[in-house]
Amino acid sequence: MTLQEKDAAYLWHPYTQHKTAATPIVISKAEAALVWDENGKEYIDAIASWWVNPFGHSNRFIADAIYKQLTSLEHVLFGGFTHKPAIDVAEKLLQMLPSNQQKVFFSDNGSTAVEVAIKASLQYFYNKGESRKTIIAFEDAFHGDTFAAMAASGISFYTLAFKGMFIDVVRIPVPVAGREEDSISTLKQVISEHSCAAFIFEPLVLGAAGMVMYEPEILDQLITICRENNVLTIADEVMTGFGKTGKTFACDYLSVSPDIFCLSKALTGGTIPMAITTFTQEIFDGFYSDDINKALFHGHTFTANPTGCAAALASFELLGSDEMQANIARIQNNHKAFLSRIGNHPRVKTSRTLGTILALEIKTESEEAYYGTLRNKLYDFFISNGIIMRPVGNIVYILPPYVITDSQLQTVYQTIEKALAEVY
Ligand SMILES: *Cc1c(COP(=O)(O)O)cnc(C)c1O
Repeated sequence: MTLQEKDAAYLWHPYTQHKTAATPIVISKAEAALVWDENGKEYIDAIASWWVNPFGHSNRFIADAIYKQLTSLEHVLFGGFTHKPAIDVAEKLLQMLPSNQQKVFFSDNGSTAVEVAIKASLQYFYNKGESRKTIIAFEDAFHGDTFAAMAASGISFYTLAFKGMFIDVVRIPVPVAGREEDSISTLKQVISEHSCAAFIFEPLVLGAAGMVMYEPEILDQLITICRENNVLTIADEVMTGFGKTGKTFACDYLSVSPDIFCLSKALTGGTIPMAITTFTQEIFDGFYSDDINKALFHGHTFTANPTGCAAALASFELLGSDEMQANIARIQNNHKAFLSRIGNHPRVKTSRTLGTILALEIKTESEEAYYGTLRNKLYDFFISNGIIMRPVGNIVYILPPYVITDSQLQTVYQTIEKALAEVY
């Protein structure tokens, strides 16, 4: 049997309808911004493999750190024990985050980072004897696939089968240009009508919704309204974290700081699954008690895995290097130049960029007829041209590894222009 035949025999892929999906491509090697399939065909990874590896594939610096850790302390339970890699990650991360962030909680993936944030918010009020059970979230939000994260997510095709089984979530509009007042007034109304525990949001960029962007000034206002009403604020930076928006965190563009941060993608440079939720001292103190029942009863077997921590520490070092910061600035400038060239193209309906993220919404003659099929045609077009991109509906976006070269980036831009001319 070929690998593809064995895959079909044994595997169940994520987000995949196996009856209609194309046969998956077998990837055998990857380096920096390039990946190769089993036949030696080369692809540019224009989306950093689901936004996880900004420093490039098969990074030697991270690999060496992992090997060193694996051969000294690969894992130890985090209940009743601690270790230097976890302490170092916490210390370094808290220096990078806004100063109100004081406590670091480890888990395994973006969804669990969100799950921890939501559970801690609900229990924070429970511990105080206050009944606050509603979570506020954006329409079109994506926060992950575990139950609370799924409840907070607004993209309905992910969650349809589970309707009616969720914690209480109320939605407010994303404050994109023209909807700012609507978003603010809906938030005020929601807070007055429900007992809200927390507001969770993707700061400045909603990734899975198609890199939908909004301004920091409005998020400042939304957070301030929450603060005035004792509603906790949760920044889901799982996608935006670690340089993607041009600053270390999207929240670095804000003048007020959220109470909780969720981090995962890119935390270990795309090597080892790990996630972190960080909290203010005030929230931590809400669990600090002689009463065992007030503890946060949440944990995962691989919590603070030392190998993952070593990968995170190496990633922090790479992110902070002059070379990587120069790469981020370079991509940012290239994106701006490309947008000024392509923004007025007759087939481009809307376009936007922030940091290393760029998105174009392609005009379709009839939304109904073209929506699904155009997406698949674009995907196939990019793959056949040696570029890995995953359009969301008719939105094409780039979020490349920071180590992508200028000529690779130009190839991606040119292929997008070719797609605008040829794919209908
Ligand atoms: C990907 C993502 C998640 C979920 O992370 P997983 O590691 O896939 O569980 C949560 N929030 C945002 C904003 C994401 O982009």
